[in-house]
Amino acid sequence: MRTFVPLVACMAVMVHAQDTPPPAYDYVPGSFVWFDSPNFGDRPEGVVIDTIVLHHTASSGLDGVIKWFQMPESQVSAHFTVGKDGTIVQHVSTYKRAWHAGKSIDQYGRENLNDFSVGIEMVNKGDGSEPWTKEQVEAVQHLVASMVRRFPIRQIVSHEKIAVPAGRKNDPLGFPWESMRRFGVSLWY
Ligand SMILES: [Zn+2]
Repeated sequence: MRTFVPLVACMAVMVHAQDTPPPAYDYVPGSFVWFDSPNFGDRPEGVVIDTIVLHHTASSGLDGVIKWFQMPESQVSAHFTVGKDGTIVQHVSTYKRAWHAGKSIDQYGRENLNDFSVGIEMVNKGDGSEPWTKEQVEAVQHLVASMVRRFPIRQIVSHEKIAVPAGRKNDPLGFPWESMRRFGVSLWY
């Protein structure tokens, strides 16, 4: 099922025409679209969502991520995945607990970041061979701006930095963190 949800008014400018239809999934590149994942749970009662965790997918296509997150046996998800062309896919409601961070701790000593964070996956092989595209970084900025308006976000962190034990993860490798400075929140990466 395809449902277009306008994220914010300015997202409309990101929708653009395409020449060829997408092969496996029914979405328009540069759009905001839902593909549900069953891999989520409830957040702890009364929790304040104040953190954004950035990831790379360690893969080169959005289709594969959608499929992986749709499989119950994968036991993983994120709230959003941003494609290299700026397409934003939402998999899990931000009010629910997506399964993206695993065993983790933040700079304030708080564990289990899945409880209080929004997880954003970004399509990138993560081996240093793929540059971060302008379209993708701008889409992440739109998404983060939307989250900052909705929740009292105090930090944006890398999966690498919060993963336990240290060194378990290295994502998002080479991400241009200066693009996140405009939000005026702590960056921990
Ligand atoms: Zn990750």
